[in-house]
Amino acid sequence: MNDLEFRQQHLDTKSASFCAAKWYNATIWLGSGQTTSCHHPPAHHVTEKEVIINPAALHNTKQKRDDRAKMLAGERPAGCEYCWKIEDMGRDAISDRVYKSKIYPIESLDEAFSTPVHHDVNLRTLEIAFDRTCQFACSYCNPAFSSTWVNDIRKNGPYLKLESDGRNHFTHTHDSAQLYGFNDTNPYITAFFEWWETDLHKTLQELRITGGEPLMSGHTWKLIDWFRTNQGKSATRLAINSNLGADVDVDRLLLSIQGMQVEIYTSMEATGIAAEYIRDGLDYSAWQANVTKLLNAGITVHCMCTINALCLTTLTDHLNQLLAWKHQYGRERVNFTLNILRFPSFQSALVLSDVLRTRFNQVLAQWLAHNIANPLMQEHEINHTQRLIDYLDVVKTPHSDAFDMPKLLNDFKQFHTQYDHRRSKHFGTAFPELKEWYNFL
Ligand code: SF4
Repeated sequence: MNDLEFRQQHLDTKSASFCAAKWYNATIWLGSGQTTSCHHPPAHHVTEKEVIINPAALHNTKQKRDDRAKMLAGERPAGCEYCWKIEDMGRDAISDRVYKSKIYPIESLDEAFSTPVHHDVNLRTLEIAFDRTCQFACSYCNPAFSSTWVNDIRKNGPYLKLESDGRNHFTHTHDSAQLYGFNDTNPYITAFFEWWETDLHKTLQELRITGGEPLMSGHTWKLIDWFRTNQGKSATRLAINSNLGADVDVDRLLLSIQGMQVEIYTSMEATGIAAEYIRDGLDYSAWQANVTKLLNAGITVHCMCTINALCLTTLTDHLNQLLAWKHQYGRERVNFTLNILRFPSFQSALVLSDVLRTRFNQVLAQWLAHNIANPLMQEHEINHTQRLIDYLDVVKTPHSDAFDMPKLLNDFKQFHTQYDHRRSKHFGTAFPELKEWYNFL
């Protein structure tokens, strides 16, 4: 059954907005006590009091119950705008609502649909972050998710003259993202381990640990130890998001997970100097070496591409690298997703001029035409590439916030000028194809 047939037969028959992720999937940031259903809707807070009484409240919040009620009635929760925007592009565009629902058995979708909204639901897939410790400070990230970003703001002060970033992500250290010190007892982490021991290890299909850089957190290693010493007790698949930077201890990881089923997710969307510009802290060759080491050890690697304005100059080179690994290690051993960046909006691909967008749209369309029949490509990879081509099409996806374009362009220039200065980088060297456009901003 293809993605569209799945949507028509198993989602549309329930309601026009049903998405199983609202029931079975969560991202939970334990450092700040925040959660969301998938990584698209904005995070919301869970009170300490609630999780002390009921650890399942880490996921079953009032906000999620309200959103579930809306989905049962066929209404669109506002926080899921990412999916509605893609579905409104037409062409039977497949949003993440489909991908994030089809990973569950059909009976589970029916069960979610008939569960009263005031009931707690046990998670099937969970992404957790213990803290924001990270040795990278990527351009589209911010201090809420990276301690290196915190250091930038502490050392150099706020980024100045940004007009469009209503969330003020680059002006302060986001202390609310790390409510507890490393030696304090964090009630959210306590609640997680409690819920894990009582229920989660029985119901979770997949537990994915994210960060920060999770391999820099002691709690991650504690959890890996739990899996190693309790082999056979839980059927949960363990997955770890890692930037696979030069100082990530891949050898220790391989030793710790020997004999276990673990998958690695890594972020990358560009190559060489362009990738190192976007993902500050990255050594691109070291990343390639770490991916190869994991593949050689039999680990499956998923590459999450965050599609922003800067990655388009080398995106197809990156996809070719992924195809080369697929060729060497197998179609399923390397996977990719193309996730369109919305925030910060001044780093979205939509800020590029129509000429540049059209050029990148054509390059990607040619790449897909060349590879669409390649047996190494999976269906979701073809669909993700096609939806990005549509997204870059200036007619199909015009600048929805044309009114704000001057502000977005101002911020693009302001941000990267300051980023270059603080991080000792040079925009024109990393992106010669964008240099002329950038210089005129
Ligand atoms: S943003 Fe999309 S995938 Fe995520 S919970 Fe909402 S509808 Fe589901």
